[in-house]
Amino acid sequence: MDEATQNLKICIIGAGMGGLTCALALANAGFKNIQVYEFASNLGFVGAGIQLAPNMARILDNLGVWADIEKEAVDLKDTSIREGATDKELAHVDLRYIRGTYKYPHMVGHRSSLANALYEGCKRAEKSIQFFFSTNVEKVKTFAPKPSFTAIPRKGGDPYEVEADVLLGADGVKSKTRVEMLKELGIHAEVKDTQQAAYRIMLRREEMQHDPELLELINTDGVIRWIGEKRHIIAYPVSNKNIYNISTIQPDVNFAAAPSATYTTKGSKTAMLQVFSDFCPMIHRMLNLVPEGEVCEWKLRVHAPLPTWVHGSVALVGDACHPTLPHLAQGAAQAIEDGAVIGVVLSRLPDLSPESINKALRVYEKVRKERAEKLVELAAASGRALHLGEGEAKAERDRQFAALKEGKGSVPDKWADADVQKYIYGVDVTQIAQDTFQEVFRGMSTAARM
Ligand SMILES: Cc1cc2nc3c(=O)[nH]c(=O)nc-3n(C[C@H](O)[C@H](O)[C@H](O)COP(=O)(O)OP(=O)(O)OC[C@H]3O[C@@H](n4cnc5c(N)ncnc54)[C@H](O)[C@@H]3O)c2cc1C
Repeated sequence: MDEATQNLKICIIGAGMGGLTCALALANAGFKNIQVYEFASNLGFVGAGIQLAPNMARILDNLGVWADIEKEAVDLKDTSIREGATDKELAHVDLRYIRGTYKYPHMVGHRSSLANALYEGCKRAEKSIQFFFSTNVEKVKTFAPKPSFTAIPRKGGDPYEVEADVLLGADGVKSKTRVEMLKELGIHAEVKDTQQAAYRIMLRREEMQHDPELLELINTDGVIRWIGEKRHIIAYPVSNKNIYNISTIQPDVNFAAAPSATYTTKGSKTAMLQVFSDFCPMIHRMLNLVPEGEVCEWKLRVHAPLPTWVHGSVALVGDACHPTLPHLAQGAAQAIEDGAVIGVVLSRLPDLSPESINKALRVYEKVRKERAEKLVELAAASGRALHLGEGEAKAERDRQFAALKEGKGSVPDKWADADVQKYIYGVDVTQIAQDTFQEVFRGMSTAARM
């Protein structure tokens, strides 16, 4: 990479999984002038677990940060899908084949361990990446030829304008970059209410060990999903099995009337217990361990597929352009795939003109958009199947679960289905971007609007 390319100024809004991966992939590719603007004062991530699927692990390993995450993650041997009301197992899927087939295991871990490993990787590239924490990017002002935005230091200080050569909007589901981009393009697209919300809970081993059934849960090497009508609970141990991570999905009641800017709230423990009142006693004992005042509820919002992720020298990344329901456990993984592909396409720029930057970003969109949107739809479909109420559709789903006991058929809980896994884990987007860049870039016409 020549010196001028190395010094291309690349600004990233947001230090979530997508933003951090972009920064690290770009620094590893040789870029030396990367700036990350983050609203929060540090990476104080919410206490929650995360599934670390092989497609994510492969990228993190290429970026040199997987070993630290793997050390404290839990290697999944299986997943069990159970009836919430009875704890009766509907299906059991062995996941041990994954490591051999896809070279990386399917693990589960703590979000902070993933975020910290990415951040530590970025810090090792400190000469190339500069972080601006406690900084609110208020408005993207221009998209081309040079993108620019207004940054406001949250702890005092005057707003200032930043001009870049490339701007990446990795600012999450509430993305202001997306709003400004769509406005500029005259496209009307709203955030969609999913009518679903999630409680996210972490229990410590000390809190569970007095109860033999709960102790057995935290000692497993598996993911358990308890399902019921319009609701489910998914749980697995993280942090070397010292923490049990529980995430629920239920109909949204508390946010229904809330403004679209509200995404998390302190929930009521009584309300949480009520939502799962017909689930089995063991689940009740487990939910009862949550300290009053520590129930956190998340509103789940998504977005209809956008006509484009790119305008001028600005591209959207991660939840900013493909927010998803969590039922496939691929939201962060897909943001990480975006970051890896951004690293590839920008490092192959033949020249630094805004036209070439725009084309390279459109190669990123070409490699990523269809796949990410397909997984968003698959996650929604999986949720619909898991949340069925009494009726023929549920009976058919349960027949599919039962057939799995004889080793036959597909898994209605899609993340555990071997064909879905092949589609998700068997595809290396970094490799695809590397292999196809030249041809796709060459075949791309200059954008009508720059
Ligand atoms: C219940 C639940 C369970 C999930 N489980 C999984 C799982 O198991 N596996 C998985 O892969 N994914 C999972 N996900 C999805 C995953 O958390 C998200 O898809 C992922 O975090 C998106 O990353 P991101 O970087 O795009 O956005 P975010 O993580 O939202 O990061 C955006 C960042 O931008 C910053 N920001 C926003 N606006 C501004 C601004 N104006 N100025 C400056 N900074 C700004 C924010 O502060 C934030 O740090 C789950 C999600 C939920 C809700």
